Amino acid sequence: MPVNLLDFDLASLGDWLATLGEKPFRARQVMRWVHRTGVTEVGQMTDLSKALRARLASEAVISTPAVLKDSTAPDGTRKWLLDVGIGNGIETVFIPETNRGTLCISSQVGCALECAFCSTGRQGFNRNLTAAEIIGQLWFANRSLGADAASGHRPITNVVMMGMGEPLANFDAVVTAMRVMLDDHAYGMSRRRVTLSTSGMVPWIDRLRETLPVSLAVSLHAPDDALRDRLVPINRKWPLAELLAACRRYVDGVAVLPGDGADDDDDTDMSSAPVAPAPGVKWQRNASPRDFVTFEYVMLKGVNDSPAHARKLIALVDDLPCKFNLIPFNPFPDGGFERSGADAVRAFQAILLEADFVATVRKTRGQEIDGACGQLAGQVRDRTQRASRRDGATTSA
Ligand code: SAH
Ligand code: SF4
Repeated sequence: MPVNLLDFDLASLGDWLATLGEKPFRARQVMRWVHRTGVTEVGQMTDLSKALRARLASEAVISTPAVLKDSTAPDGTRKWLLDVGIGNGIETVFIPETNRGTLCISSQVGCALECAFCSTGRQGFNRNLTAAEIIGQLWFANRSLGADAASGHRPITNVVMMGMGEPLANFDAVVTAMRVMLDDHAYGMSRRRVTLSTSGMVPWIDRLRETLPVSLAVSLHAPDDALRDRLVPINRKWPLAELLAACRRYVDGVAVLPGDGADDDDDTDMSSAPVAPAPGVKWQRNASPRDFVTFEYVMLKGVNDSPAHARKLIALVDDLPCKFNLIPFNPFPDGGFERSGADAVRAFQAILLEADFVATVRKTRGQEIDGACGQLAGQVRDRTQRASRRDGATTSA
């Protein structure tokens, strides 16, 4: 079986090339061809020796999932449905804005976490995506949108891991793919421009902080455990107090000694000045790319959207540096919830703003192509048989 070059980050590519007797710098060359130039075949890597090209051509491919559907909404939002085998599809969405272009990437086929208001969760879990399938979404979207390293045309400036799946439940593949996003020989994105959204898998939030701190968004959705247990069932395992403590640790970051390279990629981007060194540590700085966490809060009519909920939320996050992003609920068939009215959303936002929090309301984009947040359903064959269990329950009820 040939390897897929999209499965490698720089280090693992170097290791693999070493098994072919190649020097480490070849990995940088190959990364640039694959991700910056976007070649589809090894034969196009013209600065490699003929012998190496021949060897690579027989042992490696550059392969992404096939496109099943490609749709563009009137507002320019574009969605691709990608074939990930035996009847399963995942979705990737590009959202163009005036000064940036955001790509929303999927990390799993379906999701096991069963959040009550999420159509991906409704479908159950099929499998994790490989690193190649994750970074392949960026590779492919770049090509489709006409990105060109030579002219500097870069339609995708930001990546959010907010498509289908829980990224922290597929930690290794997601981290490998994000390393490629950040790598200067590949996409060279700042850690501020790569955002991982999680429903709150506490131990993996800590691992991310230690491994590859990127911008962190946390799906909060409720101001107390009783309601969050119902909306985001993973809360029963890691309740709010533990989640907020992990958010605090993430913002505080970890001590970094000079020269370990953990945040060399975006030094100029750091908003916070280095903090005072701890005793015994020569130099220390906050390795978190942001000095706040973004809390996502889906607005569900009559469920979590009252002024009392907003006030409780303020008390809950207390002095944690954070911003709020209020997401109007995107309905889907048999969703069981309704979107909060515009007045309720405005009133909720006003209470947060009055308490000096930054609180934005997410614009719903790509509605016509079901490309909006939380609408990504793809086509998942549910190995957990959840769908049939639920349908059976409905029928017998
Ligand atoms: N699994 C991760 C990331 C993918 S979901 C997570 O849960 O954070 C991305 C965001 O969409 C999350 O904040 C999620 O709660 C939200 N979401 C899910 N279903 C939604 C819906 N129907 N309407 C609006 N937002 C939704
Ligand atoms: Fe999974 Fe996120 Fe949907 Fe919850 S909201 S079911 S964690 S994709």
